[in-house]
Amino acid sequence: MNIGFIGLGRMGFSLARSLVSKGETVCVFDLNAEAVKKLEVEGAQRAQNVADLCKNVDIVFTMLPGPKQVKEVALGVGGILENLPSSSIYVDMSTVDVDTVDALFEAFTEKGIAFGDAPVGRLAAHADKGESLFMLGIATQHLSKVEPVLYKMGTTVYHCGKAGDGTRTKLINNMMVLCYCQINSEALVLAQALGLDMNNTFNVLTSTTASNGQLKEKWPHKILKGDLSPGFDLALGYKDISLASNAGATSQVALPVCDTTRNVFRLALASGKAGQDTSCLTDFWAELNNCTKPRLK
Ligand code: NAD
Repeated sequence: MNIGFIGLGRMGFSLARSLVSKGETVCVFDLNAEAVKKLEVEGAQRAQNVADLCKNVDIVFTMLPGPKQVKEVALGVGGILENLPSSSIYVDMSTVDVDTVDALFEAFTEKGIAFGDAPVGRLAAHADKGESLFMLGIATQHLSKVEPVLYKMGTTVYHCGKAGDGTRTKLINNMMVLCYCQINSEALVLAQALGLDMNNTFNVLTSTTASNGQLKEKWPHKILKGDLSPGFDLALGYKDISLASNAGATSQVALPVCDTTRNVFRLALASGKAGQDTSCLTDFWAELNNCTKPRLK
């Protein structure tokens, strides 16, 4: 299969690199020429633009920041819809809203092009190791072509249903993940204020039913070590919690914890924390409470 990959950021670069490292023929494009160059050195082919990339690929993946960029690249002038042959498949892996993914499905189906969504679960550190999880939404007849390619980028694929169901699942997944960011931060700042030993507290919290994946797998390697570089940028976290909150509003489902967490992310962004990892919420609450920042020894 000739594979096209658009969007070589924190996640996309690692996913595309996994394909290249497994000997796949991968043609890549990103507005950031440096990222393209880096992967070209490792064996990817470089496309001049989206239209150029679409010329000779059997399947195209996008891994872009959010709905705006995905609509631009997929549906805009010179985009995927205009240029992809109808024998090819388009799979968006970005985290977008329900309306966007449904609009993509409609537009591509109308042109006879197979479309699916496969948003990505687990941490950026998992993507680096080829251990991502994919929430795949696509008609069953396309599974045999799409699943093997996903397994070259990760270890786990859940077929969530028709196109758009991957995105719906991902919004719920990230709503929980981002609420844990807030809960973990509150808990650790309180532990600090109570004068507890942070290493011992961390061991307890990750050994009881209080534990969660964010606390266990992310916190010790990021904020509790003082590493604020984005695995998952706070600005992207705000985008995702907002997508979940909006999905609640349109579905008329009350989401009190989600909506509060959305406001917390908004406040942290306003305090200048964009560009930092979502786990920076722990420092945000430590600063507001005049408390020493929790760290592991
Ligand atoms: P990122 O900001 O690091 O990367 C986005 C990339 O898209 C950048 O390289 C940028 O140059 C490129 N880009 C933007 N507009 C473009 C355009 N018009 N044409 C071509 N390239 C363009 O973001 P990321 O962390 O890699 O996340 C990507 C998506 O994956 C987001 O939807 C995010 O919510 C989701 N996600 C992120 C993580 C994570 O831990 N970082 C995990 C799962 C899912």
